[in-house]
Amino acid sequence: MKRPAAHWQILIALVLATLTALVFRFLEAGAGESSAIAGFVGSVIKGCGFLGDLFMRALKMLIVPLILTSVVSGISSLQGVKGFGRLGAKTAMVYLSTGLAAILMGLFLVNVIRPGLENGAPNPVIRQAFERSAASADDEVTAKVAEAGSRKAGDYLEVFRQMLPENVFQAATDNSQLLGVIVFSILFAAAITRLPEGEMATVQQFFRSANDAMVIVTGWVMALAPLGVYALILPVVHKTGPDLFVNLGKYFATVLAGLFLHLFIVLPCVLKFLFGIHPWEHMRAMRPALLLAFSTASSSGSLPVTMRCVQEGSGVSKRITGFTLPLGSTVNTDGTALYECVAVMFVAQVMGVQLSFAGQFFVVVAALLTSIGVAGIPSASLVAILLILKSSGIPGAETAVVALLAVDRLLDMSRTAVNVFGDSCVAVIVAKTEGETLKV
Ligand code: ASP
Repeated sequence: MKRPAAHWQILIALVLATLTALVFRFLEAGAGESSAIAGFVGSVIKGCGFLGDLFMRALKMLIVPLILTSVVSGISSLQGVKGFGRLGAKTAMVYLSTGLAAILMGLFLVNVIRPGLENGAPNPVIRQAFERSAASADDEVTAKVAEAGSRKAGDYLEVFRQMLPENVFQAATDNSQLLGVIVFSILFAAAITRLPEGEMATVQQFFRSANDAMVIVTGWVMALAPLGVYALILPVVHKTGPDLFVNLGKYFATVLAGLFLHLFIVLPCVLKFLFGIHPWEHMRAMRPALLLAFSTASSSGSLPVTMRCVQEGSGVSKRITGFTLPLGSTVNTDGTALYECVAVMFVAQVMGVQLSFAGQFFVVVAALLTSIGVAGIPSASLVAILLILKSSGIPGAETAVVALLAVDRLLDMSRTAVNVFGDSCVAVIVAKTEGETLKV
């Protein structure tokens, strides 16, 4: 029998994991915490934790070699500095405009829905929930937020520091420092185009073949995706109870509505009306990558599959995907930018801080700037949110971020899918404007 397509396999795994988790919660609720059922569920969750970790490690293992080979083979095949400059300028422009559109959408919704207010006044129930959640947070979460909180206002420049790592091998060992690896790969690729003809062809051929080999390894890892996704999702749904939605329901609704509109209205309209690209065909091609981004909450982890979908499904050349996608996975994060804006405004509302026009303008600019530096890994944007809250002088920033971190997973999964779709849109837009014939 023929195996179903990749996106169906992942979707089935997602649904099965959700159902299993709900059955587990139901059984546990009936049987009590010390029962044999609870013991069994505990062992299954532990086993899933292990399997999910193995799958994530396999995906992460692909990132650095894939970035190096795809950026180098893509950029070194651009015709000289002019070709590179044109592509770079276009890409940066699309990154910034889609990011800004996402933030403004978030700002609009948070001002209309006002999730942190109750009858026009700060909602005291949410404030208490923040404090309760911060008091019961585990040490890992508290330590993470305390470490992030020690960063100073000047850290808005951190993104520039990351671009030039002191040691590129050290940067390559840390998935939150991938920007440095990308910048190095771009410089290296540019240098290859300056080599004498014969040498240039040899080095280019080497990186092209190495990239082809990485694509094959990606295929092997993807064969494990249904199992990996099942193992990742089951513990998340099992842990996330309905209580989460009681206090933060409006906040969740605001973020999800913004992400939904950006994903299904704004980006498709940009593709269709500005560039004549068929949005739903493109989204169809992206299904495996979107589901994987949703399941892993990591744009960088999904990068190998994103590249495959954009190349094979939407028909973009390696020359363009090699440049736009690795860079996009760390600097172009529409979903994250939107989320940062909503989260900061929400906390301000709960804390009773009325942000003036200038204050809100600062939040918009800060969200745009920090979203560039947010790594493509789970919950990375909470650090940026803390930084913006502190710079805006909003009290209780740490307590609020600990509370947001505790309920972050579902929103993280959703914004990561938007991040990945945004990256893929930039790739097809740039390809189209470069005169490539797309499949979408
Ligand atoms: N998890 C997101 C990503 O990988 C980053 C974030 O918003 O925390 O794209």
